[in-house]
Amino acid sequence: MSTNSCIFCNILREKRDNIVLSNKHCFAMFDGYPVSKGHILIIPKRHVSSFFQLELDEVVDAYLLLQEAKKLLDKKFKPAGYNIGVNIGSAAGQTVWHVHIHLIPRYKGDVENPTGGIRNIFPDKGDYTKIL
Ligand code: 5GP
Ligand code: ZN
Repeated sequence: MSTNSCIFCNILREKRDNIVLSNKHCFAMFDGYPVSKGHILIIPKRHVSSFFQLELDEVVDAYLLLQEAKKLLDKKFKPAGYNIGVNIGSAAGQTVWHVHIHLIPRYKGDVENPTGGIRNIFPDKGDYTKIL
């Protein structure tokens, strides 16, 4: 079920052209406010807010689109690495209440010290070798 007030449901309904990939249960589009060049969102078509509400076939289709999106980004932007992340709940930073997976291409030197990757959601906790 889609909702009229949901930005992602509206983008899917209107088939806007920043949708770059799709399969039975999911679609992928470039993030409107990218944190890095090529930042893509993988979005299940069904309107649910949490990753944990997804059915297995939706998770499988999301995974398949992650793989396709990586191929697309490898070809187009040649990133040096990736982060994959899902924000679940406002405490975790979620702002759009329609589940989505961030695929974030990473480039050499894009931050001063990338050690720890997603651990850096807590400032200064990324590089655990410095905490020990
Ligand atoms: P969240 O904070 O919920 O994990 O991520 C929401 C994401 O949706 C953000 O990265 C934000 O840039 C992206 N976003 C918000 N509104 C739009 C929009 O209208 N179009 C696109 N393409 N991305 C959006
Ligand atoms: Zn929605």
